[in-house]
Amino acid sequence: MAGPTTINNRGPCFWCIKALKWTPVLFIVCIIAWSYYAYVVQLCLAIVESTPKQVIFLVFYHIFFIMLCWSYWQTIFTEIGRVPIKYKIDDADFHTLTVTESAEAQRQILENVSRHLPNTNVNVQHFPRFCDKCRVIKPDRAHHCSVCGECVLKMDHHCPWINNCVCFTNYKFFLLFLGYALFYCVYVALTSLPYFIEFWRGTLEGKGNGRFHILFLFFVAIMFGVSLVSLFCYHCYLVSENRTTLEAFRPPIFRSGPDKRGFNLGRYNNFQEVFGDNPRTWFIPIKTSLGDGIEFPLNSRHQANSYQSMENTQNSSREVDSETSKLNHGHIVT
Ligand SMILES: [Zn+2]
Ligand SMILES: [Zn+2]
Repeated sequence: MAGPTTINNRGPCFWCIKALKWTPVLFIVCIIAWSYYAYVVQLCLAIVESTPKQVIFLVFYHIFFIMLCWSYWQTIFTEIGRVPIKYKIDDADFHTLTVTESAEAQRQILENVSRHLPNTNVNVQHFPRFCDKCRVIKPDRAHHCSVCGECVLKMDHHCPWINNCVCFTNYKFFLLFLGYALFYCVYVALTSLPYFIEFWRGTLEGKGNGRFHILFLFFVAIMFGVSLVSLFCYHCYLVSENRTTLEAFRPPIFRSGPDKRGFNLGRYNNFQEVFGDNPRTWFIPIKTSLGDGIEFPLNSRHQANSYQSMENTQNSSREVDSETSKLNHGHIVT
């Protein structure tokens, strides 16, 4: 088994690769900055003639622009969810785990190490899940990211466009980024459409390259809008099912077997798990997700299989039958 991941080889290659990983982010930032220039300076200030129209265009544009940049920033710079120290397998146990060849003996060690942990998921052999690179028991829904070099809580996927893992801590920001980016593209495309048509008719009046900025602005907005719509709809579906991208490909395994609906609490509760229970903060890119990224409320049919289902009272209010919780949450919001 491999040892823990260490970052002690920080030669020029390390820094080159690190810089290279920021290239997709830089590309997106350049596109956003150019679109700002093209829309505000070249379209609104140079071509749109009516002042009320300019004001309306610019006010709504800046709302979308600020929300887009804010959620993008949060998605990139929010720290990934890391596995707490109590999940660490100590050196003696890890050594025994590596030298023993008996699967049953390995299972015993892992069961013993994880006996006080609130895990419900197991691996394909029905052993407690563990990571031999980080030397930890993996919390439910956590996975090892080979790019980040460590285990990440409720890992969804590693995204090069944000140079970060999409996980428990920034999933809400990632969804808002997709949503605001889509609205931004639709808004820019719709408001620049009449001027785009004028360009083709040859009646658009503009100085120098201004007209070409409008042309490219429209095309880029349509192109990004089309590619965003499927990704955004897919993640809306995953939120409604309380499922990560990784879980959509490989369902989590419980003591009773694999179940892709294991964390499904009903649509509204699933939404609240990511966006929180206060509707006023749902669409603002600030942290409002429920839980700690380590323990997750389960679909009612798995609750009896939790290691600590009989003694864990901390989450008992969240581990409720989906129908009951619908009623409870319905009470909260009405
Ligand atoms: Zn790991
Ligand atoms: Zn990662």
